[in-house]
Amino acid sequence: MVAPKMRKGTIMDKKEVSPMITWLKIRCSDEKNFDFRPGQFINLQVSEDSYRSYSICSDKPGGDIELVALTGVPGLGANYIKNLQKGSPVSFVGPSGRFFYHVPARKRVIFLATSTGIAPFIPMMKLAVGDKEVEAVTLIFGVRNEEEVFFEDKFKKLEKSGKFKYLISLSGVYGDLKPPYYPGRVTALLPEYLKEGTDFYLCGNMDMIRDAFEIIKGAGLSDFAIYTESFNPNL
Ligand SMILES: Cc1cc2nc3c(=O)[nH]c(=O)nc-3n(C[C@H](O)[C@H](O)[C@H](O)COP(=O)(O)OP(=O)(O)OC[C@H]3O[C@@H](n4cnc5c(N)ncnc54)[C@H](O)[C@@H]3O)c2cc1C
Repeated sequence: MVAPKMRKGTIMDKKEVSPMITWLKIRCSDEKNFDFRPGQFINLQVSEDSYRSYSICSDKPGGDIELVALTGVPGLGANYIKNLQKGSPVSFVGPSGRFFYHVPARKRVIFLATSTGIAPFIPMMKLAVGDKEVEAVTLIFGVRNEEEVFFEDKFKKLEKSGKFKYLISLSGVYGDLKPPYYPGRVTALLPEYLKEGTDFYLCGNMDMIRDAFEIIKGAGLSDFAIYTESFNPNL
């Protein structure tokens, strides 16, 4: 087996996009136009002998590598990323992973993400919106409250295509909210989108994926597919 190639990069930009989440832009030193397939991740070296996986959230392949990392709770990767500065050197392996946008697609595509689970969907949703087979693309994105929402500017841009719609569910908020904001969990919004001819993509924490999977499977549909990427497979 060929050993994965260790790559070097430099932090070009870094921003806290919410109190919980840090966005990073990395330029790969040995491949300036870094290639990847939408949905893939890199394994970032976060200590001498530890790596953490982060999905690539660049709009498209062939440029800098953008990531969003959960940094609002302590952790080896979280602490490492918090301490990075513009110009810091980084090492990573990748791209890796087989969580891809599937073609030919069905006529409806639903993306369901919690928190940083949105990352692989940024380039994948662009593919879905540009896919002639697809009539409607819907994102259901879950965070805890309005302060934790990030990337809404990207969703608004996709909305201009006329076939993209997004809903943001706030699991820690109760009472009336104005669309695109809804109280409760992402899974509460799912039943309205359980229709024949749908591809469902689920990404984020495993509990959400398990619950959503059960809801979709239980709907009695005959023409559908479910594709998943769990961020905490070992927990
Ligand atoms: C394919 C794949 C893609 C992924 N993509 C992303 C991504 O795009 N963005 C992203 O953020 N994550 C992503 N992950 C998850 C990521 O790889 C890490 O597992 C996750 O971010 C936690 O790593 P960590 O090193 O910060 O925490 P760890 O050190 O691994 O700790 C795990 C958890 O334990 C808790 N913990 C640790 N130390 C303490 C402490 N001192 N006190 C209290 N609690 C503590 C924290 O809540 C932490 O979340 C992905 C995972 C996979 C498998």
